[in-house]
Amino acid sequence: MKNIPANSYARWRAALAAPALAEGGGPPERLLQAVWQHQRLRRDSLRTLDGRKLRVLHPGFWNHAAGPDFRGAVIQFDGDAPRSGDVEVDIAPAGWRGHAHRDNPEYRNVILHVVWDAAETSTGLPTLALRTALDSPPDELSVWLDTGAERDLPEAFAGKCSAPLKELSPELLKDLLNQAALVRLQTKADWLQARARDAGWEQALWEGLFRALGYKQNAWPMQRLGELLPALGRQEPLPRNNPLAWQGRLFGVGGLLPDELGRKTSETDRYVRAVWDCWWREREPFGEVILPRGVWRFNGLRPANHPQRRLALAAHWLAAGNLIARLENWFTNETNETEPAADSLLKILLAGADDFWPRHWTLRAAPMAKPQPLLGTTRVTDLAVNVLLPWFWIRAVAGRNAALRQRAERLYFAWPCAEDNAVLRLARQRLLGGAGRRLLATAAAQQGLMQIVRDFCERSNAVCTDCHFPELARNFGVQAANQGT
Ligand code: SF4
Repeated sequence: MKNIPANSYARWRAALAAPALAEGGGPPERLLQAVWQHQRLRRDSLRTLDGRKLRVLHPGFWNHAAGPDFRGAVIQFDGDAPRSGDVEVDIAPAGWRGHAHRDNPEYRNVILHVVWDAAETSTGLPTLALRTALDSPPDELSVWLDTGAERDLPEAFAGKCSAPLKELSPELLKDLLNQAALVRLQTKADWLQARARDAGWEQALWEGLFRALGYKQNAWPMQRLGELLPALGRQEPLPRNNPLAWQGRLFGVGGLLPDELGRKTSETDRYVRAVWDCWWREREPFGEVILPRGVWRFNGLRPANHPQRRLALAAHWLAAGNLIARLENWFTNETNETEPAADSLLKILLAGADDFWPRHWTLRAAPMAKPQPLLGTTRVTDLAVNVLLPWFWIRAVAGRNAALRQRAERLYFAWPCAEDNAVLRLARQRLLGGAGRRLLATAAAQQGLMQIVRDFCERSNAVCTDCHFPELARNFGVQAANQGT
């Protein structure tokens, strides 16, 4: 073995690393973000470009969605009180203007701009240059980054509640999450009931469904369209089973129809022409309520969640004329127990025959190679846990019908888990030490975790200042032990 160098493996590993932090051109932004997240910095001697001493109490949480790179950092300048806010990472100070962050309201809470290298900045933001602050030479960091070590989040990212939560048995933790989930169900139900007092139960449900179809980006314009439904149907009732006419009306009032009609004869041109044929006569009577196109947000939107596609689905529900009756039948009919509730609900919510939308994500998109249904199981889960089950639950509560209330709860707590999302991923890391995925096997457990984030994390900060949840979780465990559960 004496001919084999003792550092073979170390050399192989070093060779794996691209010159990620090469001097000169600067590293890719993603690598700077990893350096910031893991604080691979000489943390005792950080100074901003204007000479202020910088102490990082928490680097914040990496935001993989639109907006600043890190949310909720806690930092301190000189001897000032700690500040909580966002951190944006760019290669150079010019990125702040170049990426139009300056005028974007999403960036108004940025308290620190982190760049690779600069001597000065004109952004007006406190700025830290990383190049001279790294804790290791760029080549070493390059190896660390390129071999994936940065993916292991440090212990410091765990919240203060993660230790007491870890001490709970799986049954107790499930019980705690379900209790929080019930609070969430009730909060959603209260909103529906408040709306029903003014507008009636059916209208409250339509508004809830429309709002849910908007997802977080377009909840408000969708809700507005939901609120307009009585006027949209009353002014000139549309014939039943004519989804195209409803699509024309919803796209038109939503301000989502292209102004120009194409001269080509593509499938899209033919469809848009057919929709315009429905809408052009109605444009004037509905002129006052047409939404400006600017109220919609399209950035960072998945094609499946585009409002045109979601309204196309809603048009089918409205055209069928019996959606609510079918939903009530689904909920009350015990024979549904033979089939998973999510499957039977999907059958009801799936649109009827549509020539255009199964093959197009939006009015501009090229035709899809393979048709896609207008609704899938994950969206059905969103609609069930956020709107339908809260609506059935509160109606049962209002009508003092204990059997139906229990049925709504039974369905809610057994509903299979929804799609993972950024809030859940972060919450699993902070609250459940990253080991909670199997505990979140139901949509209710996910809802419970999100409720804890809403009630506690959002009122505290990244270092869990003044959060009572760890103590409450600890007491929950002690109480259960005293009662022998
Ligand atoms: S803020 Fe509270 S609930 Fe959130 S992670 Fe910290 S201790 Fe847990």
